[in-house]
Amino acid sequence: MLIVQKFGGTSVGDLERIANVAKRVAKTKKEGNAVVVVVSAMSGETNKLVGYAEHFSKNPARAEMDMLLSSGERVTASLLSIALQEMGVDATAMSGRKAGILTDNIHTKARIQEIDPTAMHNLVKEGKVVVVAGFQGVNEEGDITTLGRGGSDLSAVAIAGALEADLCEIYTDVTGIYTTDPRIEPKAKKLEKISYDEMLEFASLGAKVLQNRSVEMAKKLNVNLVTRSSFSDEEGTLITKEENIMEKPLVSGIALDRNQARVSLCGVKDRPGIASDIFNTLADADVNVDMIIQTKSVDESTNIDFTVPVGELIDAKVVVDVFVKKGEIKSDSYNEDICKVSVVGVGMKSHAGVAAKAFSVMAKENINIHMISTSEIKISMVIDEKYAELAVRSLHDAYELEK
Ligand code: ADP
Ligand code: ASP
Ligand code: MG
Repeated sequence: MLIVQKFGGTSVGDLERIANVAKRVAKTKKEGNAVVVVVSAMSGETNKLVGYAEHFSKNPARAEMDMLLSSGERVTASLLSIALQEMGVDATAMSGRKAGILTDNIHTKARIQEIDPTAMHNLVKEGKVVVVAGFQGVNEEGDITTLGRGGSDLSAVAIAGALEADLCEIYTDVTGIYTTDPRIEPKAKKLEKISYDEMLEFASLGAKVLQNRSVEMAKKLNVNLVTRSSFSDEEGTLITKEENIMEKPLVSGIALDRNQARVSLCGVKDRPGIASDIFNTLADADVNVDMIIQTKSVDESTNIDFTVPVGELIDAKVVVDVFVKKGEIKSDSYNEDICKVSVVGVGMKSHAGVAAKAFSVMAKENINIHMISTSEIKISMVIDEKYAELAVRSLHDAYELEK
């Protein structure tokens, strides 16, 4: 079999853990498999590098950030390769560039456009273990780009797709995908299988166990994806096509996104085209807007509230400022102390009352809901960040997910 194994930050968090990873990789190779490894930076490393840059600038240049942040993964890839060689395993470390990962030009959240797997293929054919630095590629000009936080998952899935690997294993610090973050709710239950669509919903709604774009890519390329722990041999969770899943519960889990901020615009000039102008300008600035609320117009002005990822708040402010200066928005305010909690389940499609139950749970706990959005397979609520864990646990209880 050709197996892609990805090891996250905690799994390569110190030298001893890198040695353990080397043992696992060597074992997989010894069992007769071809192995391509993708690694993250050691845990905390990427944040440390971000902190260094922020020491000098509130809004550092994106191209420089990519040069800086991509270094963390290269450290781990080199160290793991050295550790493997020392164990007698023929290994080679590779940057994203050498692995043939070509991206677009959007620094710090680039999209993979193409992978040329020739170099990896050739080395694998020679019997080598290839260790690729995750989270990075190059654009057409040859500048280093990174794939957004958590992007090593995407590197692994994309490489598995390009190499037509039999299996892509994502090794992390939990034993699989649970009904909610097991660090918040210890009663959370591990799922044996989950569909791509449901996993995509979980990941997009903040369950960082898999980066959302990696799940999107896995679905598109039909990659056999398994999430499991690098600290045990326990079987993980298979992420697969919906038709492979027999049981479809009404609600499959609760997701939490702490990484959201709320933008409130007061006194927005109520003319046709204003929403189009504001949100198109935000889109041009690569700001991902999520929930939007517009209130009833009074005296030709209205209020618009929306949420964006915390990391994109600076860019959102720049855009809003332009409209404030033009006199089309009276005042703007920002709140980072919010979070989004979501109830997810494909089974919801055909059932009424699922949303009402979520609202009752919030009412019972005296948690005020600021924003609501629903789709066929999820209900999301924006609440104060201080209630995040209480909300997750209460919802988990109410939908009896521990059973
Ligand atoms: P890595 O560094 O290996 O990429 P991450 O920290 O990105 O790991 O993702 C793993 C974490 O995801 C877990 O430690 C857990 O706290 C969190 N998590 C959130 N939601 C879930 C869920 N539904 N199931 C499992 N883990 C989850
Ligand atoms: N090191 C990067 C991050 O922390 C990428 C990853 O770990 O997947 O976001
Ligand atoms: Mg991760």
